[in-house]
Amino acid sequence: MTAILNADLHCHSVVSDGTLTPEALAQRAAANGVELWALTDHDEIGGQHRAAAAARANGMRYLTGTEISVTFANETVHIVGLGFDPDDAAMAQGLYDTRGGRGKRAQEMAEGLARVGIHGAYEGALRFVGNPELISRTHFARFLVESGACKDTYEVFRKYLTEGKPGYVPHRWASLKDAVQWITAAQGVAVIAHPGRYKFTANEEYALFVEFQSHGGKAIEVVTGSHTPAEYVEYADKALEFGFAASRGSDFHSPEESRCDLGKLPPLPGALTPVWDLLDHRIQ
Ligand code: AMP
Ligand code: MN
Ligand code: MN
Ligand code: MN
Repeated sequence: MTAILNADLHCHSVVSDGTLTPEALAQRAAANGVELWALTDHDEIGGQHRAAAAARANGMRYLTGTEISVTFANETVHIVGLGFDPDDAAMAQGLYDTRGGRGKRAQEMAEGLARVGIHGAYEGALRFVGNPELISRTHFARFLVESGACKDTYEVFRKYLTEGKPGYVPHRWASLKDAVQWITAAQGVAVIAHPGRYKFTANEEYALFVEFQSHGGKAIEVVTGSHTPAEYVEYADKALEFGFAASRGSDFHSPEESRCDLGKLPPLPGALTPVWDLLDHRIQ
C-alpha cells in the first residue's frame, strides 16, 4: 500500500473517552474518505470486534487498535498498539490491570476538586462514562463544562486537570516495556502516540525512543491531530533518524470537542515507511 492511502489509526469511542459508538465512528470515518481505520480506545480492546464489523459494513479496511497509558521518566506516555490479535489473553490481562487504578484515582480527583468548591464531580463525571472501568479525566472535563465551571474541555484541563492543578492526581500506569511487549507478543506493532505532546527534554525524548526501540517498538505517530505542521516535519526527520515507521491518526474524540476530524489530516511525508506497510498481513 502507499503513503497516500487515507489511513486514520487513532480515535476513541464510548468504550473509553470518546462520545460516539464504534458504529457511529465507522460511519463518520467512511463518510470522510477513510480507507484504513483503527479504533484505539484507552487501555481497552472491548470495542474491537464491533469496530472491525462496522469497518467492513462501511467498506473500510481495519487494523485492531488500542492506546496504552504508560509511565516513563515520571511522565505519562501513550503507546498505540495496532494489528494485534484482539483475543490475546496476556494483552487483555495487561490492559485490565492498567485500567484497575482508575476508580480510586477518580475519587481522589473529585476530592481535589471539592477542596476548591467543586462538589459532586465523581458522580457528575460518571454520568458521562460509557464504560465503568474507564473513567478518565475527559469525563470530568465534560462534567465541568456542563456545570458551567469552564467554557470548553481545553479550559478545564488548563485550570483543573493538569499537573499542579486541583483535580490532578499523579498516577502510575503500565511500564513501557510491558506495554510494548503485550502488543508485540500479540502480533501487533507498537507506536509512540503524539511524541510532540510530551514535556520531555531532548535527552529524555532520546531515551524514550531508544528504550522503546530496544523493547521492540517499531513506529511513531508523525501526522496526528496533536501535532502542529512544524511537528510533522520534526517527527518525520526523527522517524528517519531512528528507523521508525510512521503513523497517521486524528485522535478524534467527539464532534463537539475535537479540532481534527476523522480522515482529515494531511498525508504522511513521502520518504517515510507507513506503519501499515509493516502490518499488511494483519489488515482485515
Ligand atoms: P486520562 O487517561 O484519564 O489521564 O485522560 C487522558 C485524556 O484526557 C487524553 O486521552 C485526552 O483525551 C484528554 N486530555 C489530556 N490532556 C488534555 C488537554 N490538555 N486538553 C484536552 N484534553 C486533554
Ligand atoms: Mn482521550
Ligand atoms: Mn493520547
Ligand atoms: Mn488518543
